[in-house]
Amino acid sequence: MGRQRVCVIGAGPAGLSAAVEGARLGLEIDLFERSEIGRHIRCAEGFFDSMHLVDKPKVGMRYKVDEAVLKVKNEYRVDCRKINLWMIDRGEWQQDLAEQARAEGVRIFEKTRITSDQLADLESKYDWIIDASGVPSITSVRYGFRDYYKPNGAVTVQYVIKGDFSSQGKRLKFLAFPHYRGYFWVFPKSSTTANVGLGYFNPECKDRSLSGKQLWARLDQLMVQEKITGQIIKRTGGVVPIRLREQLQYGKILLVGDAAGCASPLHGGGIDTALITGREAVRWIAGNKEKESSFTDAVWRILSPKLNVEKQVCQIWKGLDLEALDMAAALIAQNYQNIGIMKLIRYSIRLLPKLSTALRFRRGLMTGRWTN
Ligand SMILES: Cc1cc2nc3c(=O)[nH]c(=O)nc-3n(C[C@H](O)[C@H](O)[C@H](O)COP(=O)(O)OP(=O)(O)OC[C@H]3O[C@@H](n4cnc5c(N)ncnc54)[C@H](O)[C@@H]3O)c2cc1C
Repeated sequence: MGRQRVCVIGAGPAGLSAAVEGARLGLEIDLFERSEIGRHIRCAEGFFDSMHLVDKPKVGMRYKVDEAVLKVKNEYRVDCRKINLWMIDRGEWQQDLAEQARAEGVRIFEKTRITSDQLADLESKYDWIIDASGVPSITSVRYGFRDYYKPNGAVTVQYVIKGDFSSQGKRLKFLAFPHYRGYFWVFPKSSTTANVGLGYFNPECKDRSLSGKQLWARLDQLMVQEKITGQIIKRTGGVVPIRLREQLQYGKILLVGDAAGCASPLHGGGIDTALITGREAVRWIAGNKEKESSFTDAVWRILSPKLNVEKQVCQIWKGLDLEALDMAAALIAQNYQNIGIMKLIRYSIRLLPKLSTALRFRRGLMTGRWTN
């Protein structure tokens, strides 16, 4: 039997990891990207290896994040030295992944958009198709679930700003909103550039239905409030799918990355899960002689321990008003300076029943281990 032929649609992290790993496993891979590799990226570029399953980026690294600022009412510094969290330049990083793929024999076709009508044709030409086209995925257009992503996703807007970020240093800043509405972020890439954005996460939150114009107005308000100034050099954003789909295989097509809906429900980070699911797709294909489990089951088995803990944390966050969330932030940062003793006792009692989830979350965050 000849080599299995695999078509990958989309050269984001999911498609590129499928291509590199697939070629190494002996698959014959063609990768189609509608744009140019590393262009038109929608991301704050904080790369969190949440499951300790991916490699530290070798190219495009800006810095290792050793501390984060978590603000609710007060600001707390969270020690991140033990967390695999890096700021990267995704353009450079993805171009390097594409070079690795080419070196392994992958044929890459840039500026080649695949339409949903072409899928049937591709299915007849290839043994497998990996849909890494992000949101809405090509498969969703063909199979009628393109409306899945928005109600199951975070709604985001983001600026890239040129300004003076030297006082923030190499720290990521998060301003968390109560009741799991979402958060505002400032992620410096250097002392003079930062990704500054806003995401609404909670599907029940009315802010999610704001028009695009209103979302940008909210972001502008938050920038004033947080005293962020500078020149806007890029506007981006969109939906980040934060609910893994129940079905990840449609005939010969396997969904990976955002197309599969696998970004974190807690913070929307999806780079690492895109890499993991892209890689898993080709491993599953390459080992498919007597498949013991479906591709869908294989992905769920890998991701669900982490996603379950994150969902439980979201549930807890939903019940927290501003005061309680501030207290939770102090607990996460293990910094109680701004908290009075009475408040500490009152909220600690309230948060105590959630302790086992909090401990599992903390362990997962620090070690990448999310199972019991
Ligand atoms: C504002 C914002 C900030 C974010 N910040 C972070 C962050 O800091 N950290 C983090 O981990 N995650 C972040 N995310 C999420 C992260 O960007 C995604 O989860 C991740 O990019 C998913 O990778 P992917 O490969 O599945 O999809 P994508 O990165 O979306 O890649 C899909 C690729 O497919 C191509 N494509 C689409 N349609 C076609 C077609 N028809 N034919 C050919 N090619 C096609 C696209 O051009 C693109 O290159 C953020 C998302 C947003 C919107």
